[in-house]
Amino acid sequence: MLRIYNSLTKKKEVFKPVEDGKVRIYTCGPTVYSNAHVGNFSAFLMADLLVRYLRYKGFEVKWIMNITDVGHLTDDNELSDSGEDKMEAASKRENKTVWEIARYYEDLFMKDMRTLKILPAFKYPRATEHIQEMIEMVKVLEEKGVVYETSDGIYFDISKFPKYGELSGNTLDALQAGARVEVNEDKRSAFDFAVWKKLVGKNEAHIMKWDSPWGPGFPGWHLECSAMSKKYLGETLDFHTGGEDNKFPHHESEIAQSETANGKKFVNYWIHKSRVVVNSEKMSKSLGNFFTVQDLIAKGFSADSIRFTFISAHYRSKLNFTEDQLIESQKTIDKFNGFIQAVTKADVTQADDGIPEVVKSTGQQFEKGLDDDLNISMALASLFGFIKAVRKKIDSGNFSEEGRGSVIGFMKKINEIFMVFDFDEKKEKEFTADDQKVINDLIEQRNKFRTEKNWAEADRIRDELLKMGVNIADKK
Ligand SMILES: [Zn+2]
Repeated sequence: MLRIYNSLTKKKEVFKPVEDGKVRIYTCGPTVYSNAHVGNFSAFLMADLLVRYLRYKGFEVKWIMNITDVGHLTDDNELSDSGEDKMEAASKRENKTVWEIARYYEDLFMKDMRTLKILPAFKYPRATEHIQEMIEMVKVLEEKGVVYETSDGIYFDISKFPKYGELSGNTLDALQAGARVEVNEDKRSAFDFAVWKKLVGKNEAHIMKWDSPWGPGFPGWHLECSAMSKKYLGETLDFHTGGEDNKFPHHESEIAQSETANGKKFVNYWIHKSRVVVNSEKMSKSLGNFFTVQDLIAKGFSADSIRFTFISAHYRSKLNFTEDQLIESQKTIDKFNGFIQAVTKADVTQADDGIPEVVKSTGQQFEKGLDDDLNISMALASLFGFIKAVRKKIDSGNFSEEGRGSVIGFMKKINEIFMVFDFDEKKEKEFTADDQKVINDLIEQRNKFRTEKNWAEADRIRDELLKMGVNIADKK
């Protein structure tokens, strides 16, 4: 049985699906106005691990991840209404239309998702294609009397939702105690959030706009997840995941909207990925520690090492991301792959090696780890012990064909979760002296480009070498 830490109740709970054998999971996806950094992907990799493990356990999983392509304000995560529209700022910066910006960054995001072998979601609904569903939800909220109109928009009156603050601790009382200056005097409370914004004041020239019963405008940020999760997954979800930064005001507001509109519990298990820091500092462009997936790959790190680094750290521990960790992850991956090769090539005897039993008990330990709130360290420890035990049997000549089949079968099964093991038997290639000279020259050229930080050229040569059958791996 899977037990998982629910951010709403702040304790580990046994997972029970809404519908037997099926899981509905919603993940807050990217806002597509700039490059996502690796820290963003750590939250998606957490969701990937959860989805893959649920599938491993035999659940039929329906996973939805939204694409936030409506322009929102730069300080949306704050409570005030100031700030610039992110999509419009990017449009000016890059001299593209807001629509081009959205599709461009969505494509880049999808490319990184594939690079990191994150399972494709069932669907990636775009906010801009679900404005009607959002308007319908605002109408319901209006009928229920929890929203009100001001000169610049429609706001959710959080005093009408007594459970506000249950997820994040930011109840109305707590918010008022730490009150901050509010610019919008029309609002009943400074902490009420927008479900619809009108084209007035600084939003007058907002480029992305739609007609609505309240005049032309655009939806509030939190609304899209309430509307799209309902459309694709129904009124009550099993899991809702996101980064810790999404907890407030985003998720708190999603709960208020969905539970009021539907009259039902919105989410049974809230899962939040804790923040990633780099060399103990917050990841930011100004500090120069902002890495995209492609930046790290251009530096010579493998996509698998990035994937493994993020999934092998527990999702609730604060990950301090360093390049050394990528190197360590690569070593671990190499260790697993070396083991798989050794098992593939090992000589067999007619022995009754007892390996199928070892596989079985390892599988149980592995699941026991992941069943305990995705305790990946425990799951990995069982695998390291397993490698040792099997190697010992091979070394002592106590290894059968059945043992081999059972080890490889097991490794393939758990690779549906890890996705970093390599089962191909590597064929060593013989090179002539002339070939060898060309290869050495290319490697030298590539090293030169690398010292000059000319990653594009270095990559080009790496690809050229790969075509010749030479695989370059950069290590410290
Ligand atoms: Zn969301």
